[in-house]
Amino acid sequence: MGAAGSIGRQTLDVIRERAASDEKLELVGFSVHSNCETLRLLKHEFPHSRGAWTGEPSLAPEGASWAGPEALARLLSETEADIVVNGIAGAAGLSASILVLQRSMHLALANKESVVMGYRLLKKLADEQRCNIIPVDSEHAGLFQLTQRIGRAIVSELTITASGGPFRSLPIDQLSSVTPDDACKHPVWKMGRKISIDSATMANKGLELIEAARLFDMPQTRIRVLIHPQSYVHAMVRTLDGALYAQISKPDMRLPIHMALSWPKTTASPFGFADLVGKNLEFYEPQKERYPLLWIARQALDEGEAQCIVYNAANEVAVEHFEKGSIRFTQIASVVARTLERNWNLPVESFEDILHIDSMARTIAANNAERST
Ligand code: NAD
Ligand code: MG
Repeated sequence: MGAAGSIGRQTLDVIRERAASDEKLELVGFSVHSNCETLRLLKHEFPHSRGAWTGEPSLAPEGASWAGPEALARLLSETEADIVVNGIAGAAGLSASILVLQRSMHLALANKESVVMGYRLLKKLADEQRCNIIPVDSEHAGLFQLTQRIGRAIVSELTITASGGPFRSLPIDQLSSVTPDDACKHPVWKMGRKISIDSATMANKGLELIEAARLFDMPQTRIRVLIHPQSYVHAMVRTLDGALYAQISKPDMRLPIHMALSWPKTTASPFGFADLVGKNLEFYEPQKERYPLLWIARQALDEGEAQCIVYNAANEVAVEHFEKGSIRFTQIASVVARTLERNWNLPVESFEDILHIDSMARTIAANNAERST
């Protein structure tokens, strides 16, 4: 799902790379949202697959098996798949995750917003349907492998790393004048625009902190975030005896996608391996003045589930305003902080509750963004 995006394209690469191996994967279906060319090319390259067009129905290209609001649901109910990769960007990924689990298919989940907004309900659904949720986000894929191998019971602390983004060394007083294109020049990863901007503010790491707390049922006080510019070490776990174990691989998203598509097996990877010879690996604590959104995420986690939904929604709205040029880079954090200020102690018992909080937060965040300009 989201086949034309960064995760989608890399998933297709994994399928191509494994085509000649014993661990061959078959693409049975895919969705695209706005890229006609991708749908046409994929239909040509994978003639037995079926493509759903989730964007504006009138723009659906020839060859789409389904188009319109029901396209994704039809793709999932009329296609037999063992596992589905969710590479949709943003909050729209949540309903897609629900559809996959309702159809009793395993979910390889790159869409971190699904976890941030509704992990408790998704997990309940997955358990009822006897399906697995396998994280694809690189840090969580690393934590997943480590905790599975070591045993969650003896893990006392988790660490996720961050590259620090393109403004890691920029004087803090210059942050207010950076542009969206500057923010998208990520030093290590090539990703979609939204997640690239989130890497520059570290809202991405804030979302990942929430994601780790939910997936591994760990209080935020026992999850560390370290800046590691080389992005070789993706995740670490500390066990009760004080030992620290790290998951180390080249910064290439195809590897966590490959791992998720192989799980619970570990299979040979065509993507090479990290060689540490001659590498200088650095780790340091992020600065609060540079990355306030990381601290705001910790506060949201302390406050509750609704506040985590608000954090995600307000950040999406603020990033859209930044992309349009109507607020400055540094105002993304203030829009999110201001949106979280009101009383958000609302029940989160159903997917409708989640969508209600999400939409309220978007309206309030948009007002806050407009008042900031
Ligand atoms: P992207 O913007 O490159 O691709 C997202 C895809 O989702 C696009 O093809 C888009 O058309 C589609 N889409 C957008 N809105 C949609 C909607 N309403 N319904 C259906 N499809 C829709 O983004 P990406 O970088 O591939 O990220 C996808 C997800 O994976 C995000 O949640 C991101 O946080 C997560 N993720 C990405 C990376 C990465 O390296 N790119 C790493 C870790 C996690
Ligand atoms: Mg990540």
